[in-house]
Amino acid sequence: MVVPFKHEPLTDFSREENRQAFLRALKKVEAELGREYDLVIGGKRIRTEEKIVSVNPANKNEVIGRVSKANRELAEQAMQAALEKFNEWRKFKPEARADILFKAAAIVRRRKHEFSALMVKEAGKSWREADADTAEAIDFMEYYGRQMLRIKDGFEVESRPGESNRFGYIPLGVGVVISPWNFPFAIMCGTTVAALVTGNTVLLKPASATPVVAAKFVEVLEEAGLPAGVLNFIPGSGAEVGDYLVDHPKTRFISFTGSKEVGVRIYERAAKVHPGQIWLKRVIAEMGGKDTIIVDKDADLELAAQSIVTSAFGFSGQKCSACSRVVALKEVYDQVLDRVVELTKELKVGDPADYGNFTGPVIDQAAFDKIMKYIEIGKKEGRLMTGGEGDSSKGFFIQPTVFADLDPKAVIMQEEIFGPVVAFCKAEDFDHALEIANNTEYGLTGAVISNNRENLEKAREEFHVGNLYFNRGCTGAIVGYQPFGGFNMSGTDSKAGGPDYLLLHMQAKTVSEMY
Ligand code: NAD
Repeated sequence: MVVPFKHEPLTDFSREENRQAFLRALKKVEAELGREYDLVIGGKRIRTEEKIVSVNPANKNEVIGRVSKANRELAEQAMQAALEKFNEWRKFKPEARADILFKAAAIVRRRKHEFSALMVKEAGKSWREADADTAEAIDFMEYYGRQMLRIKDGFEVESRPGESNRFGYIPLGVGVVISPWNFPFAIMCGTTVAALVTGNTVLLKPASATPVVAAKFVEVLEEAGLPAGVLNFIPGSGAEVGDYLVDHPKTRFISFTGSKEVGVRIYERAAKVHPGQIWLKRVIAEMGGKDTIIVDKDADLELAAQSIVTSAFGFSGQKCSACSRVVALKEVYDQVLDRVVELTKELKVGDPADYGNFTGPVIDQAAFDKIMKYIEIGKKEGRLMTGGEGDSSKGFFIQPTVFADLDPKAVIMQEEIFGPVVAFCKAEDFDHALEIANNTEYGLTGAVISNNRENLEKAREEFHVGNLYFNRGCTGAIVGYQPFGGFNMSGTDSKAGGPDYLLLHMQAKTVSEMY
């Protein structure tokens, strides 16, 4: 028997001993900087000439690690290893697969701060954001392990006299897991272990900005007893390795989390049936967002302002769930805007290794340039209230930025910026606010701050997002509590951390026998 699932608590950094423990973890990570990490194919470590060099986005000169880089030949070797192992792994008892997840969760829990400290360095996360990322990774392992135990015997179906009908789920085959850098541990871990625990073998291609945390996690799964060849670790270029494996006739499914552009490309390419392919590939795609907080005229405005600032600027707005649009009713618009500007000016931006900083850098030069380009557009489209400046001399720092008075169809109201930028737009009434909130191609998260029950009920029906929150911010979904995933161009609404997520990695089989 396993104990019921309960989410991993976040670390209380107001306590001196926890802060000291985290500082020790940072020291440990610093002592390992620059280490080499290998590919893992069929249980063998392979070192390549060409490397992905992972750097600290807060300090470009600090190398986090040098990770071997797969090419097409190595991706093919990994595919062959995963195909061969599938026949064995799919028969491995579900309980034993779940146990590997539980053990891996225990190992990570013991080394929690070390993983978080690594993300401070590799992804530029603040202590709190990194701690939450590690906690979520632990949650995914604990939750999916338990879900597998629930579904392993299938579901009940009816049988007539003299007949026996059984209905259950079997694995799919080889899955390609492609993960983003913004939740370098949680999403990489969650998408990988969901595919594994359901009996599939996996080719893991992590984001090129954050391969070291992925390499460390592969080591954990090995330590937890995952047999060689079940998980193959192949960091590499999305365009080269990604396209090759998405097109591969033996790929059975692709679990992708990342941008809309890449998600659409994968979805289109995966639809093409190649010679030798005897199935239609399944695609799980979780993509971008353009997420809105609506502030009603009858609302707790302090709660609204606090929720907006946390949701917009936590991890420098680099969350698919981040609030990038505020739609406030005209009666409260100025008041909310002023308070948000005031709170934003208090935020400290700097090296995330320093606990006192609220947020750190954005991930790399390309992200920095893209966000600064949107800030220039924003200056033309709206009124710059605070921020608007960036400095990429040492790391990629951008000041939290607030724009006011945007047209609902303005570029910065429509396109995902993925940085610390929030745009304000005024609504005539609540219906107008909902209309603006629904006017993008995305549909990931949204929040409504209101004391008006009728309006909340209206939003429940009409605010078209996969994750809708009332009287709180729009980030911070918890595994097993708020299953996560979006509508429209935000993806296939796969609901990570939800009770039906694992089924996406399986296929149902009915067996009927007459006596
Ligand atoms: P990205 O699309 O640039 O990259 C994601 C992954 O895809 C990386 O591993 C990358 O190497 C790979 N890739 C790139 N080209 C590829 C190709 N042709 N074939 C296969 N793989 C390829 O996204 P990112 O910058 O890493 O992450 C940020 C994006 O992810 C944002 O748009 C954000 O909203 C989204 N995101 C969505 C969710 C969600 O749950 N909906 C969660 C986190 C992030």
